[in-house]
Amino acid sequence: MHAGSHDVAIIGAGAAGMMCAAVAGQRGRRVLLLEHSTRVGEKIRISGGGRCNFTNTQADLKHYLGRHPEFARQTLAGYTPRDFIALVRRHRIGFHEKHKGQLFCDDSSQRIIDMLHAECVQGRVQWMQPVKVHDVHRQRSGFCLATSHGNVYAERLVVATGGLPVPKIGATDYGLRLAQRFGLQVIPPQPALVPLTFAPESWKPYAELAGVARAVRVKCGEQFFDEDLLFTHRGLSGPAILQISSFWNPGESLTIDVAPGHDISLQLRQAKAQSRQSLLNVLAQSLPRRLAQTWVEKLGLPGERRIAELADAKLAALGAAVAGWTVQPTGTEGWQKAEVMRGGVDTAELHPVTLESCQIPGLHFIGEVVDVTGWLGGYNFQWAWASGYAAGMAV
Ligand SMILES: Cc1cc2nc3c(=O)[nH]c(=O)nc-3n(C[C@H](O)[C@H](O)[C@H](O)COP(=O)(O)OP(=O)(O)OC[C@H]3O[C@@H](n4cnc5c(N)ncnc54)[C@H](O)[C@@H]3O)c2cc1C
Repeated sequence: MHAGSHDVAIIGAGAAGMMCAAVAGQRGRRVLLLEHSTRVGEKIRISGGGRCNFTNTQADLKHYLGRHPEFARQTLAGYTPRDFIALVRRHRIGFHEKHKGQLFCDDSSQRIIDMLHAECVQGRVQWMQPVKVHDVHRQRSGFCLATSHGNVYAERLVVATGGLPVPKIGATDYGLRLAQRFGLQVIPPQPALVPLTFAPESWKPYAELAGVARAVRVKCGEQFFDEDLLFTHRGLSGPAILQISSFWNPGESLTIDVAPGHDISLQLRQAKAQSRQSLLNVLAQSLPRRLAQTWVEKLGLPGERRIAELADAKLAALGAAVAGWTVQPTGTEGWQKAEVMRGGVDTAELHPVTLESCQIPGLHFIGEVVDVTGWLGGYNFQWAWASGYAAGMAV
């Protein structure tokens, strides 16, 4: 064996790469993990507001999207949230459930990084960091990686370079380019779980609502989410918008019920019959006042007039506008603000049990670089763990 040779080389020491390295190493494989940044697991560190929403107890196939949605079924079944929770418990990391099955560390997300590092140590994983991988060549058996530390040989190569979000902490398109160079199809990457933006002129009436948050129902096509929305200076954000952004394509509209669970038309009609209050005061019973004001102005209604003086048709129009606000975003806040990448290595190219390329034996892709994208709420890490585990067991 050559001195720089290993059973497995893994490019990218993030969530999926470290998981894969630990699993393969603990199976007795000689693993080399190559990372170009000076720190490892940076996305884990910044995730979940610093507390890492590391999984979701409800994770199943319906929380994932991609061109071939069925692909992830077997991978996810092979390593479940329960498996990861057991690992977290073994390392005595405190955690709690926040919302809809989302599990967060009690203290810092650094605990998850330390846990993965310790698991790698147990698997005698070797590290090469920081390192630049200049090129990768297939050999008769295995792969040769030309790196800034010299050549490295490995029987198997796992690409775990993640997605494009947050380039300033080390995200690159290296994995996508490598896949293309080996002839694998790549679904064009797009920012997902990302705030949406609007043309400045059309957003003017709403820009002053920046900071207002509100539980809404947001819909794009058949997909909808009941979550909080946040107005920003440039558009919309908050969990509802991040979720729907993964389903939104340029040119499409969103429909937003700003007061879900309230029949505003009925409320206005009843108030007209019984109340001496102004239109604005009645509407402000169901909406934050700034929001109510914006809607009243948008429809050119006299907010200070007593509601009893207003025509039924105008009140009905107001009720309909609040329940079915239709907006057409012009774009997203892009890779700087996206939490995840949509698209990536086409899963039609990969085996669902091993994540190995169907065309290039010994070449595996795991984590976010693959065209499997989770909803907001711990699903993306669960994909990273499950795909890392699957490849770790196969290499
Ligand atoms: C702000 C933010 C918050 C998030 N919060 C959550 C959350 O709470 N829950 C959740 O489930 N998901 C969350 N995510 C998504 C989650 O972080 C990713 O889906 C997950 O980290 C993907 O794992 P990965 O191993 O595929 O990629 P990464 O964890 O991104 O790891 C990829 C690694 O590869 C390295 N790399 C890249 N290019 C090269 C190269 N050319 N050579 C060598 N190394 C390279 C990178 O430096 C990095 O260390 C969040 C994302 C962001 C941006």
